[in-house]
Amino acid sequence: MKKHNFSAGPCILYPEVIKGASEAINNFKEMDLSLLEISHRDKNFVDVMEEVRELSKEIMALEDDFEVLFLQGGASLQFCMTPYNFMKKNGVAGYSITGTWAKKAAKEGSLFGQVIEVGSSAEENFNYIPKKLKITKNMDYLHLTSNNTIVGTQIKDFPNTDIPLVCDMSSDIFSRQINFNQFSLIYAGAQKNIGPAGTTLVAVRKSALGKTARDIPSMLDYEKHIKSDSMFNTPPVFSVYTCLLTLRALKHNGGLSIIEEQNKLKANHLYKEIERNELFEGVAKKEDRSSMNVCFLLKDESLKEKFDKLCSEAGIVGINGHRSVGGYRASIYNALPFESVRILTEVMNHLD
Ligand SMILES: *Cc1c(COP(=O)(O)O)cnc(C)c1O
Repeated sequence: MKKHNFSAGPCILYPEVIKGASEAINNFKEMDLSLLEISHRDKNFVDVMEEVRELSKEIMALEDDFEVLFLQGGASLQFCMTPYNFMKKNGVAGYSITGTWAKKAAKEGSLFGQVIEVGSSAEENFNYIPKKLKITKNMDYLHLTSNNTIVGTQIKDFPNTDIPLVCDMSSDIFSRQINFNQFSLIYAGAQKNIGPAGTTLVAVRKSALGKTARDIPSMLDYEKHIKSDSMFNTPPVFSVYTCLLTLRALKHNGGLSIIEEQNKLKANHLYKEIERNELFEGVAKKEDRSSMNVCFLLKDESLKEKFDKLCSEAGIVGINGHRSVGGYRASIYNALPFESVRILTEVMNHLD
């Protein structure tokens, strides 16, 4: 039987996605060739790239001004592509420091100009989302991280501002309904809610580009990638195709409104047990806690061995917390079934 996979990323995918991806490795679109051995310029793959870009736009209900790209280099490369394409020479950008990833993004940004911390929860180990951000008019953009994968906090209300909003949505994209059109740039490493590792979704407003007066290396230039329909160089074909299968499944299952409901049910079930069970405590402040990464601690560390053993016997894997936080982290991404959450809470319930 398959394990209950709570891994933070790369992570669980829908069974039909694994099946479709395996089929494509054996025989892609009845070509009698593997997806792994055909040219990315073959019409059969060009169609995949077109469909995955269109479908992403459709699911997020993005305005025509947006282009969706599937790039390489992970979300981490976006930490530098963002300032390259959005920060003017000698420019200023605001960063909300909500966790390790946000810190890394800000560090890269500071190589290009002045980075201002508009808010930070570092002093509380990032267990909440700073609300009153110190935004100033001179900022070229404001960088946010919608979901903080390591501590398990999530932005529920995005700031209302005229400054272009940039958002790292690596760990909660396609998990809930939000107004995606309020952003100028959205990026997300695929391996947490879209597909396998190897590609990064970027949704960018065309009208926001070309304003920095910088010479941008081709591979880091969104405009170049847009002009070549996300095929400026050889794309990671397997990863992109598997993302397409995931997005098709997401649409087929009812899209963001349905998945949001399912994700809420899973998260509520698990948080309820953490609150009820005296042996555990949650890491994130209640109002900011994530519906994707649920972080919790055992109050009595001496029970760790027993709990780990019970989890392992129940087929639960991937719930160790990030090494910087310790404790446990149950990542309950889109593809994780409610049943897995039910099993986990049952094990927690039976611990004492
Ligand atoms: C995982 C993660 C990243 C890093 O993604 P890579 O694709 O490994 O570069 C960045 N930001 C957030 C919020 C993440 O969860």
